[in-house]
Amino acid sequence: MPNHVLEVTRKHLESLISQNFGSKSAAQRANRLFEGIYARGKGATWPPIYPEEVHLASRDLIENAFDFDLPMTVSHSESSSMDGSSKLVMRLQDGREIETVLIPERGRLTQCLSTQVGCAQGCRFCQTGRMGLLRNLTAAEIVGQVIVGELWRRQQQGTIAEYERINNLVFMGMGEPLDNLEELLVAVNILTDTQGLQFSHNKITVSSVGLLPQLERLLTESKTCLALSLHSPFDAERSKVMPVNERHPLPEVISVLKKHADSYGRPFMIQYTLLKNVNDSSAHAEALAELLSGIRVKVNLIPLNEHEGAAFRRPELAKICQFRDVLKAAGHVVTVRLSKGRDIAAACGQLIKKTERTQH
Ligand code: SF4
Repeated sequence: MPNHVLEVTRKHLESLISQNFGSKSAAQRANRLFEGIYARGKGATWPPIYPEEVHLASRDLIENAFDFDLPMTVSHSESSSMDGSSKLVMRLQDGREIETVLIPERGRLTQCLSTQVGCAQGCRFCQTGRMGLLRNLTAAEIVGQVIVGELWRRQQQGTIAEYERINNLVFMGMGEPLDNLEELLVAVNILTDTQGLQFSHNKITVSSVGLLPQLERLLTESKTCLALSLHSPFDAERSKVMPVNERHPLPEVISVLKKHADSYGRPFMIQYTLLKNVNDSSAHAEALAELLSGIRVKVNLIPLNEHEGAAFRRPELAKICQFRDVLKAAGHVVTVRLSKGRDIAAACGQLIKKTERTQH
């Protein structure tokens, strides 16, 4: 049973209205209310401004039944490299803090979202992994990051006419999204609702280390895009970098991709963090090309974002290009991710709250 208005789907709202006021007009009333809560994708307003035709008793019902508080922005930092990225630190109701990052890029505005406070997966190169898992976020806390992000943009940009909406969401912040699948699916339902924030499924990417069977469920139940983190083409070596591989070995994860390739209908994104002298050799590139042959993929190479105390180093540019060229020569589509927001510790694998880290 939801406690917060941002975890109530339109279907749930309709059933609540139906139970209290009868089924006649319940769908229409739920639509109007939902439009009011989310401003029908036109931009964030909070508290909600309801359309005039909204059923007042239904509005009173939800205002009495649910919490409307948003995560509180406690600080923000801008990247000094002029790439325009901004990191917002948000405090949740229990005092825990999470981070979200806004990244303007080639005419689109991407928000990187967190799904957990900390993470249980412990990938060796990742700062968030060192925190351990503190707790899962609720669907309301996931959707709340988007509302707060939109409000923050509005505040920065002034008038609604100048306001540029967030149009791309990536679940690549703190946490492993599939380790919090139920809440993630509710949040995606709300974010993509045509009467609500109206994000297209094609503009939502869920990143995962490949938890099974949750990966199968995501590919069956959701039309969002998948970004699978591989980081090594060799099973035993992958286990050393990503402990999750012990439980969900690489061959099993690859078979799931193959099984769902037709129904998925677009290239899977493969994320590969390049670690100097660990997984950046030509032999690795060739083995990766072979592993992915026959599957439609877009490989995203991510040279490591080095951070304080990191046990790994970032490869030199020549090595990165060489790795990319081997994959390209094998016919794969490859991009190299330029780490936006690196100087504000906002890049992938760098999201960590110092206050939280001290608890572990
Ligand atoms: S890389 Fe992702 S899954 Fe791995 S520890 Fe970091 S946050 Fe968790």
